[in-house]
Amino acid sequence: MNTHGEIEFLGTGTSTGIPVIGCDCEVCRSCDSKDKRLRTSAIVRIAGKSILIDCGPDFREQMLRATSSVLDMVLLTHSHYDHVGGIDDLRPYCYPDHFPVFAQCNVLEDLRERVPYCFTENPYPGVPQFKLNVADADHSIDFEGLHIEVLPIWHYKLLINGFRIGEHLAYITDAKAIDDAVVKILKGVDLLVINSLRKAPHMSHMSLEETLDAIKRISPKNAYLIHMSHDMGRHEDVSKELPDGVHFAYDGMIVRF
Ligand SMILES: [Zn+2]
Ligand SMILES: [Zn+2]
Ligand SMILES: [Zn+2]
Repeated sequence: MNTHGEIEFLGTGTSTGIPVIGCDCEVCRSCDSKDKRLRTSAIVRIAGKSILIDCGPDFREQMLRATSSVLDMVLLTHSHYDHVGGIDDLRPYCYPDHFPVFAQCNVLEDLRERVPYCFTENPYPGVPQFKLNVADADHSIDFEGLHIEVLPIWHYKLLINGFRIGEHLAYITDAKAIDDAVVKILKGVDLLVINSLRKAPHMSHMSLEETLDAIKRISPKNAYLIHMSHDMGRHEDVSKELPDGVHFAYDGMIVRF
């Protein structure tokens, strides 16, 4: 498989999105389009396939803005609303064939509860139809010639999925801690996408300092930060503070790997 491709960032914001409803901080009031962040999600295009990572509540708007609407599968990192809230909007992708979903067993169970009408014996005509595939941490996914490593990532006490897609790209969101075994797998990867919430510590998401430490351990050629809160600051200001090779991603950004 050709392991070069591109990632298009559909959303780079934390669960509230930016601007936060009713907030008048300088980030939420900023006119810079790079300070407007939908919920975190991305499309990875590699080996002729388009892989959606997470399907949050902004999914529909994100796909209307994306450079291509083609999708072949979705990888879910975990079942928090900001990562799965748009699942019903996958409807256009579910016909004629059921749309492939890859997630941990417990995430698939949560999906059945979130959209139960998709999983009844005789579903109402037109409801989304999914092909559920178990992708537990520490396993790999083989999908039509694509090879994806599933990485166990700590989101506080919840073990969620990170992904290494092909040789060059790793994608980690909502991490609070990354085990040494995962660092070993990712060591020196070309492009690391990784979450960073804000400067102050947080119980379940890495702060900027913690993210920069994780980046040092993994030592990728380039790292792109995602899942930012308005407390992180403005894109223009924070970008100047980042070390070489670390970039503040924004919605609509496309990076080739
Ligand atoms: Zn999240
Ligand atoms: Zn704000
Ligand atoms: Zn989460």
